[in-house]
Amino acid sequence: MLENLTQRLSRVVKTLRGEARLTEANIQAALREVRVALLEADVALPVVKEFIAQVKDKALGQEVQGSLTPGQMLVGVVHRELARLMGEHNEPLNLATAPPATVLMAGLQGTGKTTTTAKLARLLKETKKKVLLVSCDVYRPAAMEQLRALAQQVGCEFFAPEPDEAPEAIARRALAWARSHFFDVMLVDTAGRLTIDEEMMAEIRRLHEALKPIETLLVVDAMQGQDAVNTARAFGEALPLSGLILTKLDGDARGGAALSVRHVTGKPIKFVGVSEKLNGLEPFHPERMASRILG
Ligand code: GDP
Repeated sequence: MLENLTQRLSRVVKTLRGEARLTEANIQAALREVRVALLEADVALPVVKEFIAQVKDKALGQEVQGSLTPGQMLVGVVHRELARLMGEHNEPLNLATAPPATVLMAGLQGTGKTTTTAKLARLLKETKKKVLLVSCDVYRPAAMEQLRALAQQVGCEFFAPEPDEAPEAIARRALAWARSHFFDVMLVDTAGRLTIDEEMMAEIRRLHEALKPIETLLVVDAMQGQDAVNTARAFGEALPLSGLILTKLDGDARGGAALSVRHVTGKPIKFVGVSEKLNGLEPFHPERMASRILG
């Protein structure tokens, strides 16, 4: 079984007992353990390096409190710093605009984007919002059908596209429909590809332009680990993201992707996917994620 960070640190910092403050020399070995723990949790290497530097900065010179070992103190600093970097508090969905509040969903194929769109619709419906679900994935009829079926399961209306209608045309018509039929929220699923390509990015930018969404959410698969960073960076550069959703946290992923994607985009993680089921979407809590990453 993997040793958790507290156990590791208490092993390497035994020699520190009795020392009154955390110094460069006495925390070096401990910081090496923190580095390994973060890499094992799948945090991207450049993010780890920067994080370690910040922790070192925070920890150096701190007096070791009587009841704590230096190792425990350092774990405390690491934990607080992790939570702080991931956003301190949960940031809720922002729907504060003239209705319909439009939410654009972005992400690669297979990350759980369509399922997450339906999960979000379900959550919003619980708060008595009238939600319209729209799919602009004209390349995969199966994806459109999937959202139509999910819409029915969560009891929300699905906007039916015309045959051969272009993504922006669907988006514009859906927006007009949502306005004239007094929908509170419109959730727009977009085409996903297996890899990032320029055409896909250009299309989602055009959709963003046409819809002017209040939220543009990137769906990232926590199981992607280090690759999540590249995805987040590419989408973050192409689109003004307002937040992220991390899916598949019910799997083995230790959650390091949370720190990485937050770091490269600077945007808050708003929700996490915790099961395949439609009730498996929860608000993101930085504190809990910090504990999970540290093991
Ligand atoms: P899309 O291609 O990004 O639209 O992905 P889908 O919504 O079709 O999801 C791909 C697969 O991931 C499906 O089998 C979903 O049930 C599954 N999935 C989505 N979110 C989660 C999650 O949070 N946990 C688990 N275990 N599976 C998920």
